[in-house]
Formats: sequence, C-alpha cells, structure tokens
Amino acid sequence: MKLPSAVSHDEPWDLLVVGGGTAGIVGAKTAARLGARVLLVERERTGGDCLWTGCVPSKALLAAADVAASARGAHRFGIAVEEVSVDFAKVMDHVRTAIQHIAPVDSLEALEKASVCVRTATARFTGPDSAEIDGTTLRFRQALVATGASPAIPSIPGLSDVDYLTSDTVWGLSELPADLVVLGGGSIGCELGQAFARLGSTVCVVEGASGARPCPSRGRRRPLRRLRSRQDRAHRLGVRGASPPERAAGAVLPPPGGRRTSATHR
Ligand SMILES: Cc1cc2nc3c(=O)[nH]c(=O)nc-3n(C[C@H](O)[C@H](O)[C@H](O)COP(=O)(O)OP(=O)(O)OC[C@H]3O[C@@H](n4cnc5c(N)ncnc54)[C@H](O)[C@@H]3O)c2cc1C
Repeated sequence: MKLPSAVSHDEPWDLLVVGGGTAGIVGAKTAARLGARVLLVERERTGGDCLWTGCVPSKALLAAADVAASARGAHRFGIAVEEVSVDFAKVMDHVRTAIQHIAPVDSLEALEKASVCVRTATARFTGPDSAEIDGTTLRFRQALVATGASPAIPSIPGLSDVDYLTSDTVWGLSELPADLVVLGGGSIGCELGQAFARLGSTVCVVEGASGARPCPSRGRRRPLRRLRSRQDRAHRLGVRGASPPERAAGAVLPPPGGRRTSATHR
C-alpha cells in the first residue's frame, strides 16, 4: 500500500484507529481485510502492553521460573539436580529474546503489509469526524479508540515517597530482588509474584479482596491459593489499605494487626 506523505484533508478514512496495541492492531487488520481504508495512529511503538510489558514478557518470565521450580522438585521423580542457581540477567535476556521473536508480528511493516496505513504520532480528536495528527487535520467515518490502560497507583499515604516498580517498569530490573511486596493479587500480581518467588525472591502479595470481602471471581482466588505453596516461597496477606512501604530499600510493610514484612522492592 502506498503511504500518504501527508494526511489528506479531503478523503475521509473509513476507519481511524488510535492506539497500536493488541486491540488496535486486530481492529485495524480486520477492517483492512474487509476492504476499509484504515489509518492507525500509534504514539510510541506498535505492539502495546501485550508485547512489551504484558503477556509476552510475563509468560517468558513464568517459563523460566517454571524451569527453576521443576528443577528444585526434580528429586520427586528420582532425578538429582545438585543445585539450582538463577542468573537473573540471563533470565531477562531470555525475556527480551521472546519479545524480539514476537515483535515482527505486531510491527509497522506487518501492519502495512496488511494494507493498514500507520502513522507514529499522538492523535487528538477535534470534532465528531475529525482528528489532528502531527498538526494535520484529517477526517474519518468511524474511529476506534484503543489507547489501553496503565497501572493504577493506589492512594496509599507515603507511597509516592517510594521508588516502586509497576507492571510496566518491572521489566527494567537487572537484579533479582531478595524480597518483593506485590500490591494487588489479581492475575498480574499473582503471575509476577509467582514468577519472582520461583526465581528465588521472597514474595508477599498484598490483596484486599479476601476473607470478608467477596473475590470478584473464582478464577482470581485460585492463583492466590496456589501462591501459598511453600515451594513458591510466596505468601499473601488478606489486608486492605495496608500501610505503604516506608523506604525505597529495606522497607517495612505493616499490615493492620499483622506482622511486619520487610521488602527490598515493591
Ligand atoms: C504483566 C501482564 C501480563 C498480562 N498477561 C496477559 C495474558 O496472558 N493474556 C492476555 O490476554 N492479556 C494479558 N495482559 C493484558 C494485556 O497485555 C492487555 O489487555 C492488552 O495489552 C491491552 O491491549 P490494548 O490494545 O487495549 O492496549 P495497549 O496494549 O495498552 O495499547 C494502547 C496503545 O495506544 C497508544 N496510545 C495511547 N494514547 C494514544 C494517542 N493519543 N495517540 C496514539 N497512540 C496512543 C499507546 O502508546 C499504546 O501503544 C497482561 C498484562 C500485564 C501487565
């Protein structure tokens, strides 16, 4: 497909897609396959959370963690594994390799091959059928806003003083944290908690939705229960509104009425 050097004022696009994550890519490719003229606008890099900070890196991390856990439990099958040591830098190399392996599928080139026109810019709507891209106004018949989500930072007093990680930034770690407090026991918190625990961190998952408060789904309770296994070296605290870690390193998380939990990372 020939890409326009400037976005035309005159010809409305059949579909304007804002956001080049999984939702935007699938929406754009599907519409293009049905014959629509599609413009996808992505402000950073195509692939979104799933490729860069979500599904792909987390499953790669879990795969490495699973190998470590299996090796530790190999004796149950009569297989002797002398010592399991984790080279976290190499684990993260493996995670990056997994991302690079999948990246071409979500690339700009793949989108253009699927007849989707791609612009790297921030889109801004200026009217019911118009948007501004790179200072140029264009018109569209339909728009798909697929701009994703970001980690919700809870308003816990003192948290802003802490150099905490999120599910977006945890991928920049180069050293395995000795202790890790995970705020949030949903699927992402449980996945990350389990992975780090199996790699050797001592993990504490803090989740408010337990005990007295009903969990949103049965599926959410199951991973929390599994995290309690001794082998995973992780445990959860059913506390709501827990006080925040006090310092960036060696912080203390005191649950109401519970014991104090030390952590080097959150
Ligand atoms: C650790 C982790 C593990 C996960 N594991 C799984 C899993 O196993 N299975 C699963 O199904 N889901 C999983 N998810 C969830 C999954 O990653 C997200 O649901 C999915 O990536 C959301 O895709 P999206 O396209 O809606 O948004 P995003 O991927 O966030 O994409 C939105 C895009 O819009 C762009 N954008 C925003 N504003 C503008 C603008 N004004 N102009 C232009 N571009 C803009 C952003 O730069 C971004 O690229 C996981 C998430 C995390 C964090």
